[in-house]
Amino acid sequence: MIDFLTENGYRFLRNEPMRNYTTFKIGGNADLMIFPESLRELSALLAYMRQENIEFFVLGNGSNLLVSDEGLRIPVIKTEKFDFIEIDGTELTVGSGVTNAKAAVFAMKNGLSGFEFAHGIPGTVGGAVVMNAGAYGEDMSMVVDKTVYVDKNGRIKEAYGENHDFSYRHSCFSSDDVIFCTVLRLERSDPDIIKAKMDELIGKRRAAQPLEMPSAGSVFKRPEGYFTGKLIDECGLRGYSIGGAQISEKHSGFIVNTGTATSKDVLELISYIQKTVYDKFGVTLTPEIRYVG
Ligand SMILES: Cc1cc2nc3c(=O)[nH]c(=O)nc-3n(C[C@H](O)[C@H](O)[C@H](O)COP(=O)(O)OP(=O)(O)OC[C@H]3O[C@@H](n4cnc5c(N)ncnc54)[C@H](O)[C@@H]3O)c2cc1C
Repeated sequence: MIDFLTENGYRFLRNEPMRNYTTFKIGGNADLMIFPESLRELSALLAYMRQENIEFFVLGNGSNLLVSDEGLRIPVIKTEKFDFIEIDGTELTVGSGVTNAKAAVFAMKNGLSGFEFAHGIPGTVGGAVVMNAGAYGEDMSMVVDKTVYVDKNGRIKEAYGENHDFSYRHSCFSSDDVIFCTVLRLERSDPDIIKAKMDELIGKRRAAQPLEMPSAGSVFKRPEGYFTGKLIDECGLRGYSIGGAQISEKHSGFIVNTGTATSKDVLELISYIQKTVYDKFGVTLTPEIRYVG
């Protein structure tokens, strides 16, 4: 693998601590982290890994991840070099490694509305497409027009409109697909109005979420007909902790890292919450955060 990367001029790092790449600040070392810089490099890399039967993991901004304390033996493909934004009328073509915040500010400055909801979601546009990330009644399904990605065989493919198969925190992309860029279809509006909406949503977030502590956002998907935070509260679990992992005092739907949390602490706390909520309400909580290890 290293020979292939070196001979072909890929940028890569070895023994990278995953805690530095996740908003949870948890995770052991990744043996190998690769930073492809173009669609061509990405495609050739995936074709090579397929040929050699090498599995891999795709990393955006690590804001929806819990990484094992033992780290990762499979190579990590980090998308941060896909960092371009192109504008064509009311459409933005955004590299998958661009943060939602950067794309939203770019849209605002160009008088394009529709992406305000994503401004405070602390991931990349690629991660947002995969997760169909959303907030305050809007999600990626409402703005994504087209996505260019590379499949596990290294083939470059495109998904259009409904082919994305978006539903609540779900899209058509499997863990073997790597998104290269996405086209967002937006609408003309006044930058001041767009900015006011972004500010309002950030204000709501700051008031409700423990943004001052490391976390991976909402731990569980919203079960149909319930509010996760309320269920957890009604079990008396607000503030409950295992090791360094704590159910946030501010928002019971979040687990925060109080400083020393391990992924084992978080996994145990997730199981404990699931069991307690199920025993009391008969409701199954499904994790939204993704565990990798
Ligand atoms: C404080 C806080 C608040 C949050 N608020 C929200 C919210 O309001 N709404 C919401 O939906 N989420 C929220 N989240 C969760 C998270 O930000 C989103 O799920 C986000 O979309 C993840 O993007 P990422 O780039 O960080 O992806 P990562 O966490 O790096 O990865 C998530 C998944 O996407 C895959 N992936 C990432 N990039 C690519 C790519 N280019 N190609 C293929 N696969 C890829 C990864 O392999 C992984 O399976 C919040 C998180 C935090 C910490």
